[in-house]
Amino acid sequence: MGNKPQRIGIMGGTFDPIHMGHLLMAESVRMDYDLDKVLFIPTGTSPHKDDSSISPAIDRYIMTMMATYSNPYFFVSPIERDRPGPSYTIDTVRALVAEYEPGTEFYFLTGTDAVLELHTWNNINELLDLCHFVAASRPGKVRTIEQEIERLGPKAVERIHRLTTPELEISSTDIRERVRLGKSIRYFVPENVEHYIHKEGLYRK
Ligand code: NAP
Repeated sequence: MGNKPQRIGIMGGTFDPIHMGHLLMAESVRMDYDLDKVLFIPTGTSPHKDDSSISPAIDRYIMTMMATYSNPYFFVSPIERDRPGPSYTIDTVRALVAEYEPGTEFYFLTGTDAVLELHTWNNINELLDLCHFVAASRPGKVRTIEQEIERLGPKAVERIHRLTTPELEISSTDIRERVRLGKSIRYFVPENVEHYIHKEGLYRK
């Protein structure tokens, strides 16, 4: 009997900032999919975004480290932070496939809005060969995402798994807005991340 292949979760996101919804989702997917670890990968320069509105990659990376440090199954990778130019997921996944043992299974965890645009991603067919996707949808978005998956074809139906996560009622956008308005973000983010945001003066305007 051979050893069971390693299963690695890849939690990709802008994480501006990382919040309790991301952490709860990663922990529940880790358990449901029997993942050996989850690699959090904050984006460097996002391919589909105007960079001026996003906090520096180093701040987002540090907050992700702080938020995940106490979980022995969670790790943070600087792979996208350190890569110049836009962060394409295909480059990240190819690098991870080359780094890990042959046969390792990868699960890319991300949010619905990103999955709804999967047809625009670079090399989506190759990506679906290299990894599974777990799409976390806020309740109410499930139908839209099912239509998109079917539109992408049979490989997508097999490789994109859906997950409804009420925890994702928390959103980074809402947290940034709360800080701007001087409202509390206690319990939305881990305490050390809350302190970092205030100390570094993030999201004040
Ligand atoms: P985003 O637009 O910031 O987020 C889209 C939605 O998904 C938001 O509602 C967001 O909520 C949620 N979300 C983002 N990451 C999540 C995660 N890991 N778990 C649960 N919910 C999540 O999307 P993004 O952060 O730019 O992109 C997500 C990932 O897809 C990144 O790794 C990015 O590199 C990748 N991506 C790749 C390409 C490409 O290769 N061409 C194109 C687009 C995206 P919050 O705001 O609360 O996080």
